Amino acid sequence: MFDKILIANRGEIALRILRACHELGITTVAAHSTADASLKHVLLSDESVCIGPPASADSYLNMPSIISAAEVTDASAVHPGYGFLSENADFAERVSDSGFAFIGPPAQVIRLMGDKVSAIRAMKAAGVPCVPGSDGPLGDDAEENLRMARDIGYPVIIKASGGGGGRGMRVVRSEGALISSITMTRTEARAAFGNDVVYMEKFLERPRHIEFQVLADGHGNAVHLFERDCSMQRRHQKVLEEAPAPGITPEQRETIGQRCVDACLEIGYTNAGTFEFLYQDGEFYFIEMNTRLQVEHPVTEMITGVDLVEAQLRIASGEALGLRQSDLVARGHAIECRINAEDPKKFTPSPGRVELWHPPGGPGVRVDSHLYSGYEVPPFYDSMVGKLITCGDNRESAIARMRVALNEMVIEGITTNIPLHQEICQHAAFQAGGTDIHYLEKRLGL
Ligand code: ADP
Repeated sequence: MFDKILIANRGEIALRILRACHELGITTVAAHSTADASLKHVLLSDESVCIGPPASADSYLNMPSIISAAEVTDASAVHPGYGFLSENADFAERVSDSGFAFIGPPAQVIRLMGDKVSAIRAMKAAGVPCVPGSDGPLGDDAEENLRMARDIGYPVIIKASGGGGGRGMRVVRSEGALISSITMTRTEARAAFGNDVVYMEKFLERPRHIEFQVLADGHGNAVHLFERDCSMQRRHQKVLEEAPAPGITPEQRETIGQRCVDACLEIGYTNAGTFEFLYQDGEFYFIEMNTRLQVEHPVTEMITGVDLVEAQLRIASGEALGLRQSDLVARGHAIECRINAEDPKKFTPSPGRVELWHPPGGPGVRVDSHLYSGYEVPPFYDSMVGKLITCGDNRESAIARMRVALNEMVIEGITTNIPLHQEICQHAAFQAGGTDIHYLEKRLGL
């Protein structure tokens, strides 16, 4: 096992990683920006290094600075967390080339899955169900593209191969708009991602977002840890997640989970990863893979009892997976609410000083947050300040615990979206389960 790990992230996930390291007796180095010297994990870390000024581009995205920090502190591995450089193949490569272990999959696998066209190709080859589409990049032949869209059937969606974060996509509802939409998506993709490759897919009107968690080691072992439902979204951002996904049958879970496991072995995937699917009318359609730890990983931990961050560290250090598929059982139900420092109605960020922090507790309640009374939420980063996770024997009990926990949670000094979560918990459609990805925006009248 590693003796010292550099944590190249901030906020709740940096704290989550620090806790896993300390449980395993690993020394930590917190790499932080000048704005983040008072982050909870920096205060708890064995060592800390400032990697640059507040702007992410100069600190958490600053590869030379992070690698120098690992060098001067003599760390043996780098954990990238999520966001920032976690899915940057060049970073993974530079970390490895500098002699450190990158806690994630190999750079070439990140690269393969980071390009959507190559990812879909690899998944199709591995037998993972994909959205009907162009099976590769669109060419410039207008007649050919029109014919393809006619075959797929409108509406279709034009997507940038290098896109991410919900950007670089355009829905086309009729033939008249197809060619101009391809041109526009291509132009935007070139400017935004430096890659003008676009492809076409059938546009699904009311899908749910269901994703499968996997773990794979470097010895040819891989397992899936069932699925999560992340359909409660606003502007493609997940707001509330749960596991398992309501209404999914054990047969569907086993079939799709096994396809994901097979795909991992096929592409040489290692470490933790997530296969994201759209789910509509009983069918799963792969859309992309996240080659990193996810924000919503705790709901999987709560129903499986597996510590995913510990598993990441063990796999990266070369250990074989201690788990077989038959060891894994999903027990009960878990829900996660993302707590953001933002106005619950207008969604404008609300940084500032936390005057009072009182987290909820009790059976089946977990709080992953870096907040403390007196902490000043800086204005430079993502507004998520924590995650409230509850679990119970069944979905009803997880929701009941969430309702009570949300009422108990006190965060004074900044505005948060707790009222939005309280409202969602009261919705009959949420209580019934299985709402689609447009539900929240429609319900909010957005
Ligand atoms: P990104 O990398 O930007 O997150 P994704 O491919 O994961 O891109 O798509 C983001 C979101 O866009 C999906 O969660 C879904 O809401 C929507 N989307 C993508 N492809 C389709 C599709 N074929 N039909 C309907 N919605 C889609």
